[in-house]
Amino acid sequence: MPSNLWDEILACIEGKVSRYIFQRWFKPTKLLNVDDDTLTVVVPDDPDDLFKDWLTKHYAGVIREAADEVADEIGRPKIEVSLVTADEVRDAPTPAASGSGASEPARRPVARRSHQRFENFVVGPSNQLAHNATRAVAEAPARSFNPLFIHSGVGLGKTHLMHAIDEYLGSRLPQQSTCMYISSDRFMNEMMVAKRCDQLPDFRAYYRNTDVLLMDNIQFLAHPNRKGTQSEFFHTYDSLYDAQKQIVISSDCPPHDLQFDERLKSHFMSGLIVDIQPPDLETRVAILKKKAEQMAGIPIDDAVALYIAEGIQSNIRELEGSLTTLLAQASMRYQKVSLELARDVLPNLGEQDKPAVTIEIIRRHIAKHYSLKLSDLKSRNNTQKIVMPRQIAMYLARTLTEASYPEIGRKFGKHHSTVMHACNKIENKRKNDAKFKAHVDDFIKSIHKSVQ
Ligand code: ADP
Ligand code: MG
Repeated sequence: MPSNLWDEILACIEGKVSRYIFQRWFKPTKLLNVDDDTLTVVVPDDPDDLFKDWLTKHYAGVIREAADEVADEIGRPKIEVSLVTADEVRDAPTPAASGSGASEPARRPVARRSHQRFENFVVGPSNQLAHNATRAVAEAPARSFNPLFIHSGVGLGKTHLMHAIDEYLGSRLPQQSTCMYISSDRFMNEMMVAKRCDQLPDFRAYYRNTDVLLMDNIQFLAHPNRKGTQSEFFHTYDSLYDAQKQIVISSDCPPHDLQFDERLKSHFMSGLIVDIQPPDLETRVAILKKKAEQMAGIPIDDAVALYIAEGIQSNIRELEGSLTTLLAQASMRYQKVSLELARDVLPNLGEQDKPAVTIEIIRRHIAKHYSLKLSDLKSRNNTQKIVMPRQIAMYLARTLTEASYPEIGRKFGKHHSTVMHACNKIENKRKNDAKFKAHVDDFIKSIHKSVQ
């Protein structure tokens, strides 16, 4: 089979998709191997591991069609196209290493995140609302909650639920309809590339023509330098919303705390807002048991699950990490997964999980005590009601965390010299005013207590 066949198929695809889509998804592919009637095509790795999934999911039909047309033209019965990532090519055993001269069979495309489905999401009191809302959205897009806004701390299941919607709709939407998952940093990068290549109209058409848009980690756009992307997203949002398309957004904080255009924030607030809390012990145990089944195909004892679940309380990604370590060690040592092994491999679990004091924790503490909004502490508002609490918060950030002045400055939207000034001021006041010292010491005590 001639090796320029992929070029011919690409030329055919070019006539079927927009210029933007072609540049974005097809241009970076390369022919790897030609074998009987199969072309193995390499797609780039990307940090999100999305490229292959996306191409497979959204364009498998286009590729098939183009391959059939080209095969028809040259009088061949069939040409198969198999997509592999650059990573998979590196990982694949070479023919020499596998001991045979025959080339490896081309791998079928696999959906990488197929495990992030609703069936694999363990529901408990901490995430029930978010689960039910996403499920309702998946079952009836744009007819239940629109927009749906999900927020939580890291590692608690936002991305999982968004992928679950994507996966659920993947096989159920009518042929012409699409569901798109995208993280906001990727949205921004794509927008910049499109701008550079004079393809903004294509970029816009692409995102404004979807039926379901799942936008992950919107907080990434909440930055003064990203106003352009915010505004681009706002227009995308508007046009989808007007066309009664479903929009789901995730963030690490509630909408009113996002440093965003007020109109966009009020749009977010007009839909359903749900949060996910850290899971309780019972849910953590259930998650571990489910993951162990998925990873190793065998259940783990209650005692082992309990040992890990008691040690790690605030982040499911870390729960998974510990379980992976344990299963890997068991397999390397040819041992059964037992409590003894868990204790050996994962000592002092509880200690490790004790969250360090973070600027976020300090901000929440101070805001709560003074009945302020989190965003007040980062605002330009310099009324006395806000200035003093903000200075105390910056001082505590400097004394209770490892953060540098510039880092603290960024968290509070201030220049680092302002942070230094605040720290000196509070330090002096502490020295000279016993009542004030007691007040600040109380904060320190209660912040430390809250992370124990
Ligand atoms: P977030 O996006 O909120 O930071 P993720 O969705 O990436 O968190 O979740 C972190 C990891 O924990 C993922 O591997 C995800 O599959 C898993 N996870 C989170 N919540 C659950 C749950 N309720 N049941 C099973 N796995 C979960
Ligand atoms: Mg996430």
